[in-house]
Amino acid sequence: MKINDPEIQKNVYCKLLAILLLLEWICRRITYVLKYAKPVFFPPATYIHLEIKVKTNFKYIYMAKIVVLGAGISGHTAAAFLKKKLGRVHEVVVVSPGAYYQWIPSNIWVGVGKMTIDQVRFKLQPVYDRWKIDFRQAKATAVFPEGDQAMDRPYISIEYTGEARRGETDKIDYDYLVNATGPKLNFEATEGLGPNKFTHSVCSCDHAVATWGALQTCMLRMEEGEKLRFLIGTGHPTATCQGAAFEYALNVAYEIKSRGLLHMAEITWISNEYELGDFGMGGAFIKRGGYVTPTKVFSESIFAEYGIRWIKRAGVSKIEEGLAHYETLDGQMHTQPFDFAMLIPAFAGVGLKAFDKVGEDITAKLFAPSGFMKVDADYSGKAFEDWSVDDWPSVYQNPAFANIFATGIAFAPPHQISKPIKSPNGTLITPAPPRTGMPSGVIGKIVALNIVDQILTGRTVFKHRASMGKMGAACVVSAGFSLLKGNAATMTVFPIVPDWQKFPEWGRDLNYTMGEAGLAGHWIKLFLHYMFIHKAKGYPFWWLLPE
Ligand SMILES: Cc1cc2nc3c(=O)[nH]c(=O)nc-3n(C[C@H](O)[C@H](O)[C@H](O)COP(=O)(O)OP(=O)(O)OC[C@H]3O[C@@H](n4cnc5c(N)ncnc54)[C@H](O)[C@@H]3O)c2cc1C
Repeated sequence: MKINDPEIQKNVYCKLLAILLLLEWICRRITYVLKYAKPVFFPPATYIHLEIKVKTNFKYIYMAKIVVLGAGISGHTAAAFLKKKLGRVHEVVVVSPGAYYQWIPSNIWVGVGKMTIDQVRFKLQPVYDRWKIDFRQAKATAVFPEGDQAMDRPYISIEYTGEARRGETDKIDYDYLVNATGPKLNFEATEGLGPNKFTHSVCSCDHAVATWGALQTCMLRMEEGEKLRFLIGTGHPTATCQGAAFEYALNVAYEIKSRGLLHMAEITWISNEYELGDFGMGGAFIKRGGYVTPTKVFSESIFAEYGIRWIKRAGVSKIEEGLAHYETLDGQMHTQPFDFAMLIPAFAGVGLKAFDKVGEDITAKLFAPSGFMKVDADYSGKAFEDWSVDDWPSVYQNPAFANIFATGIAFAPPHQISKPIKSPNGTLITPAPPRTGMPSGVIGKIVALNIVDQILTGRTVFKHRASMGKMGAACVVSAGFSLLKGNAATMTVFPIVPDWQKFPEWGRDLNYTMGEAGLAGHWIKLFLHYMFIHKAKGYPFWWLLPE
C-alpha cells in the first residue's frame, strides 16, 4: 500500500470531508439548541406568547412564513441566516427575477476581461434546494400588507420571469416580509444613457461582459494607431456608487498601460462630487502613513499617478453618440466627447406598489418618493445642517407595518450625507448616499436575526441593530489586476455616516478610518472575492465568514 496512491488519497480526502461536514452539522445543532431550545419550551413569557398566537393565528406556533424579495448581497444573506436559524419548521421563500446570484463588486474585473461571467455568478436554485428555501424566479410587483377582500393574510403579488412560467402571476402570503430588492438602474433618468444606447455599464455582470467587448474593440483601434477618448464616472447629477466607477477607471487605465497604449488614450473622470473622493459620504479624513489625509488628496494623487484627468461638480444631463452633455455647479453647460463611456446611472426603488384591504393605493405609506422603502429613520426633511446620525435607521422596520423590513439599497436613507448643492439653474448636483456591500450584508443579517428572535421567543424588542451612523465599513478599490504587479486602495471608515458630535474634529474615528494603496490590497480583494462566493454558495462554515 503506497501513501501516494491516488485512490488511497481520494479515499482519505473523502473521509476528511465527511468528518468536517459532520462536525459542522454537530456545531450547528449545539448552537441552535443552546440559543433557542430553552425559550421555545420553558419560560412563562413564551407560554403567554404561544397562547396569544393560538388565539390569533394557529399557524404561527408551528410555522412562520418569511418572504425575502431579492437575492442580492442583502437578501441572500438574510435568507441564508433565516433558514439556518429557523430550520425546517419555518418556511423561507425567496423571490428574485434572475436565476443567478452575482457578486457585483467583481463585475469590475469582468468589465476589463480579467474574470469571466461565470466566475462572478452562480445559479441560485441548487443552493436554495440544498438549504430547503422555496425559490421563485419572479419579480415582486405589489405588496398587500393587510391582504385583500379575497385573502385574509398579508401577501405580495409576483410575476414569474423564469422560462417555464414567464409572465404568469401569483400571490405569496407571508408573516414577515424582507424587501431587499436593491436599486432600479434608472438609465431612463438621463437621455441617451446606458447599454443599447450610447454608454456602457458594469452594474450587472451582463452589462460588464458587453462593456469588456467594447473595451477590447477600443484596444484594437488604439493598437492600429487611433487615439481614443475614454469617459468614466457618473451619468446623472444625483447618481451614487462613485466607488465602483472610480475602480473601473483605474482598471481601464491599468489595462491600457499594461498594453503600452497609454499615449494613445485620453482618460477622463466625470463626477457629480464636489471634490474627488467624496464617494457620496461627504468624503473622509483618513489616517495614512501617520498623516491625516482627506480622500480628495488620496483620490487625486491616484488619478494623477494613472494619468487620468477629471471633471468634478458635473451633472450629466444628456448623452448623444460620442458626446456627453453636462452642467457644472456654476450653472455652465458643457460637452465632453468620447469614444468609450462607462457612466453609472441614477438609482431608484424598483417600483413596488402597495394596496390596502379595499384596494386603495397606499404606496406613499410604505415607500419614499424615490421608490425606496421607509424604515425606522427620521424622514421629517430637516435642513441638512440639522441632521444627526440618530436620524439613521437601526432595525430597518417599516413604520406602518411591523412585519415588513427593508435591507441594503432598498431602504430609503433619511437624508444626503454629502452636502446637497444646487446650480443657479436649480439642478441638484450631489451624490446620493451610497449603501455598499458590507452594510447591505450586515443589515440583511441583523434583520434576519431579529425576525428569528421574534418567531422563536415572541420578544418584540430588537436585540440586533446596525445603524450606518454606528457601524464601520471596509472597501477595497481595485486599481489593477495582477498577482505580482496589481494594485488596490484599501479603505476603512468608522462610522459610515459621519458623527460630528462624537468626533467633532474629523467626523469619524481616525483609529478605524484608514487607507493604504499597494499590491497587498489586490491580494485582499482577490481573497475577498473567493471568500464571499464561498459564503454565498453556503459551503462549509459559511456562517462564520463576515459580511
Ligand atoms: C460595479 C459595482 C461594483 C461595486 N463594488 C463594491 C465594492 O467593491 N464593495 C462594496 O462594498 N460595494 C460595492 N458595490 C455596491 C454593492 O454591490 C451594493 O451595495 C450591493 O449589491 C447592494 O446589495 P443589495 O442586496 O441591496 O442589492 P443588490 O445586490 O442589487 O440585489 C438586489 C436583488 O433584488 C432583485 N430584485 C430587483 N427587483 C426585484 C423585484 N421587483 N422583486 C424581487 N427581487 C427583485 C435583484 O435581481 C437582486 O437579486 C458595487 C456596486 C457596483 C454596481
